[in-house]
Amino acid sequence: MGSCSIVILVYWLSAQLFVWLGFARTSDNHKNASMASKSRCARHAGIAEALLGWYDRHRRDLPWRAPPGARADPYRVWLSEIMLQQTTVATVKPYFEAFLSRFPSVIHLSQASGDEVLGKWAGLGYYSRARHLHACAKIVAEQFAGKFPETEAVLLNLPGIGPYTAAAISAIAFGHHATAVDGNIARVVARLGAIKTPLPAAKTSIKAEASQLVPHDRPGDFTQAMMDLGAIICSPKNPSCAICPLQNFCLGHASGDPGALPRRAPRQERPVRYGAIFLVQRKDGAVLVRTRPPKGLLGGMTEFPGTAWETQFDAGEAMKHAPVEANYRKLDKVISHSFTHFTLRLEIFVAEIPAGQCAPENCRFVPRRSLGKEAFPTVMRKVFEAVRQSDAREQDSAHPLNALSAKQARK
Ligand code: SF4
Repeated sequence: MGSCSIVILVYWLSAQLFVWLGFARTSDNHKNASMASKSRCARHAGIAEALLGWYDRHRRDLPWRAPPGARADPYRVWLSEIMLQQTTVATVKPYFEAFLSRFPSVIHLSQASGDEVLGKWAGLGYYSRARHLHACAKIVAEQFAGKFPETEAVLLNLPGIGPYTAAAISAIAFGHHATAVDGNIARVVARLGAIKTPLPAAKTSIKAEASQLVPHDRPGDFTQAMMDLGAIICSPKNPSCAICPLQNFCLGHASGDPGALPRRAPRQERPVRYGAIFLVQRKDGAVLVRTRPPKGLLGGMTEFPGTAWETQFDAGEAMKHAPVEANYRKLDKVISHSFTHFTLRLEIFVAEIPAGQCAPENCRFVPRRSLGKEAFPTVMRKVFEAVRQSDAREQDSAHPLNALSAKQARK
């Protein structure tokens, strides 16, 4: 064999070896991918199984929940989900019970007046929810014969129902395979998968991961189990990993600092708005109030007359907006209240005027015994409390604001 033939033979053998090694590596890659996919599915199934087992033993007993094995009432599920938006379970419970006893079905709610619904909602905050709730009840009563639609797509068309609420109702009340992701569930999912992308950018990947976790049987129980785990065990600051049924699956726990998840993009500071409120009472005890415009912030709620709430506020100009001429006394305390997009600081001016004086345009006098029936938002209840605490008022047992209990004023 000549030297040229030897070179060709070596080259050919090298090429064969290269092809064989490449094939072997490709084959290994396929095998690894397949194994990863299989183990991923097993992981999701394992999480669902462990969580449902824990839920069966430790589920919270909540007034809107059906007993184990029973079908949930869509009206209760819907009502509770709307009330629980931005609001804690402890706060919602008494409101839910009172609402249900006054409006036992969606038909009863649809037939109530807007004022009565707002009155029952007063103190729960985020009052646009009450208006949407009422509008939604009317549509369900009139267009769906009092039966809630089952699918997310149809539910999403109803007032006040967003993607989370639609998925929660569809899963919990009707057993559909829907993925509900609220703040609690997002936190648990981000920790389970050690998702490091900060919120809100991580929302899409959290939803995708959450939808893989939802089992096809018992999706409603799984959703409620995630809510319970987030509320009881996987709490925002100090997750109780030692007693968590998902500890063995949790990459966040394995990372050593699950409390740091989910990460959040830095929040912008809330702007501050300022205004003045005029609490005017007649000598016969009636108090001057007005109703806010039906749409917008605190739409349709009752308030004391006052200035607009603005970032630029000249306290010296406030008296130009007083609803009646009177000798006003300014309270030392300034009320502070946080809305979603701004913080409000209110100065309070109090005055007493003669009995029988008529109310100015767009205002009305409410007898003190009827104040408790008015749909006052929380910020106005804070005004009550500030006035109640003023020394001069505390001396006066006949003060009209005593018509409201201290408990009501704290809400
Ligand atoms: S192990 Fe810890 S971080 Fe992970 S889900 Fe459970 S409580 Fe949350």
